[in-house]
Formats: sequence, C-alpha cells, structure tokens
Amino acid sequence: MIRFENVTKRYRGTTKPALSAVDFEVQRGEFVFLVGASGSGKSSCLQLILRAETPSEGRVVVLGRDLRTLSNRKVPYFRRHIGSVFQDFRLLPNKTVHQNVAFTLQVTGASRGFVQQAVPEVLALVGLDGKEKRLPHELSGGEQQRVAIARALVNRPQVLLADEPTGNLDPGTSIDIMRLLARINAGGTTVVMATHEAGFVDQMQRRVIELRGGEMVRDERHGGYGDRSGLPVLAPEVEKGAAAVAALTAVLEVQREVTNITGPVEPLRGPEGSEQVSAAPVEPTSPSVTTAAAERREPGTNTRSIPVSNPEVDALGLADRLGLAEKKDRDDEVGPTS
Ligand code: ADP
Ligand code: MG
Repeated sequence: MIRFENVTKRYRGTTKPALSAVDFEVQRGEFVFLVGASGSGKSSCLQLILRAETPSEGRVVVLGRDLRTLSNRKVPYFRRHIGSVFQDFRLLPNKTVHQNVAFTLQVTGASRGFVQQAVPEVLALVGLDGKEKRLPHELSGGEQQRVAIARALVNRPQVLLADEPTGNLDPGTSIDIMRLLARINAGGTTVVMATHEAGFVDQMQRRVIELRGGEMVRDERHGGYGDRSGLPVLAPEVEKGAAAVAALTAVLEVQREVTNITGPVEPLRGPEGSEQVSAAPVEPTSPSVTTAAAERREPGTNTRSIPVSNPEVDALGLADRLGLAEKKDRDDEVGPTS
C-alpha cells in the first residue's frame, strides 16, 4: 500500500539528508507510528507519501502508483485517496464545521445531494453531530481536530496520514483523538501517524517505525516508544484510573474527618444496608479503588466506613468525573471508513 525503497531526501541548500536510505512497506489496514525526535524526518516521510515532496534517490510507491511517474496533473486525483491531518488543524476560520468539511467535497465537484448526505455522516462518525453550525473558534482544540479528521475522511480515503495530530492537545483530549484514529483504522483505513509522544505509542502496541537523524533505526510490529528517557509521558488510561483513585481517596478522607468531628454519620437514605455501599468499594468493577482506599487506613484510627449512596454519587456526577462510571464512548458509532 505504501512502499519506501531506499529513499533518500536532501532538501535544497542542506548538507545532511533529511532521510537516508529509508526502506519499509506498509500493508493495507495497518496502523503505523512514525516516531523519532524533532528533526528526525517524520514529516518528510509523510510529505513524500503525499507527493508534496519527491525523493532525491530511491522510490516511493503509494496505492500501486510509483510517485516518480505520477504527473503533476494527476496529483490532485491521487491525493483524494489520502486524507491528512496536522498538529495545527488547518481549518478555514470563517467557515462553519459543516462548510469546512463540505468544502473538500465541493472542490472535487461532488453533487449537492452527496455533500448533504456525506457531511453529516462523517461528522457523526467523529462525534461532532450537533456542532455543524459552529465556527472553529467556537470549538475546543479536540473538537477542531475532529473537524480536521472529518474533513480528511469525507472522501473515504484508503490512507490517513496524521502528522503530530495530538501535538496541540492536552493528554485527556489526545487520548480521545487516539481512540478515534484507532477506530478509523479498525474500519479498514490504513493509518500512518507521526508523533514524538511516547504515552499512547507504548499503550497501543502497534507497528513502530523509528527514525533517528533521517535513518530508520527500528521497525517493530508491536512496538513501544523505546528509550523514553527525557520524553514527556502522557497519562495513559491506567494512570487516569490512578488519578481517579487518588481523587476518591481524598473525598473519603474528608468524609472521615467530618465523621471524626461530628460523630457517626446517619445513613443518607433508606434502611441500613439498602442502597448503600461502604466508602471503599463505590464501584465494584474497580478493585484498585478498594485496595487504594484500604491502604490509606491507618491502624487504630477511626476507619468506620461512611455510607455513600450510589444515586448520590451519580447525581453529583462524581463517578463520571473520577473516571469510575461506565464509559459511554461517543466514538462507538465509528463504522467502516472505506
Ligand atoms: P520531523 O518531522 O521528524 O521533525 P522533518 O521531516 O520535518 O522532521 O525534518 C527532517 C530534517 O529535514 C530536519 O533537519 C529539517 O530541518 C529538514 N527539513 C525539513 N523540511 C525542510 C525543507 N522544506 N527545507 C529544508 N530542510 C528541511
Ligand atoms: Mg514534523
């Protein structure tokens, strides 16, 4: 699907090549991380796949086309098969969400009817239904990136290239975007993602191609980031869980202090034992919560558990905010993309 044959790329006016004898092949349906420090050549690879750049030596073959022999006239048609998203979203600031996505179809001469059908579909796919009339500045960073992903997908490309798509997003939002990309891939689209962020590369255990100074130093089927020293590690989900445990423990601590001052707390509602849980196991599917809360109990102190009713926790949205609630994943609707 994508093949680099001994590709060397020298930019005009530079001495050291940006890529040296890079050689790899990506199969249809793969999810590949291109990793490496800034300046290692990740973006250059993606630019070569898009034929925004051409190799100085070697050959790039994409979707069966040798890009050396692809005429300039045919490049726009070729690119319809390749969606791309970038760190800086690149949305049209004065156009709505709908218009940003529709624009891509309109320039390819798609009919009005097709645009009216395809745009809402792809916006639902990325979890943006209901926001089609907003302007980019009325959206969060994560939502803006979703618009960019919708725009990249609306042509139903076979390949999605993502150049540091989470580079401008906070860790939580980045994880949501990663999930979305993983689901798009699960729908059959080949995804090549350049990143220098270690967290989800390690978490996802997908193929990793690592570049260092333009040379390919690793190609691993189910890789992690490798040497993580000095790299900011994004909080993966397990750590999200840990944060939830810490937050819950803090809540319990406060409750315990209150009890110590005011004496035993009456059950919030209902007869003893009904609709109540002891303070620790608020969420039966989170054994770590029980353990962590239990560990916080010091021997000899008042460790009587405080009744916390489940409905109460639900009403406060606490479980949700602490990451303990059953997740309703809005990306669930992502279906096949090609
Ligand atoms: P990465 O995306 O991993 O940060 P790049 O592919 O952007 O790496 O850059 C690789 C090397 O090529 C860097 O040394 C960079 O300065 C150089 N480079 C990238 N684009 C150009 C360009 N258009 N002209 C000259 N040098 C470039
Ligand atoms: Mg780059």
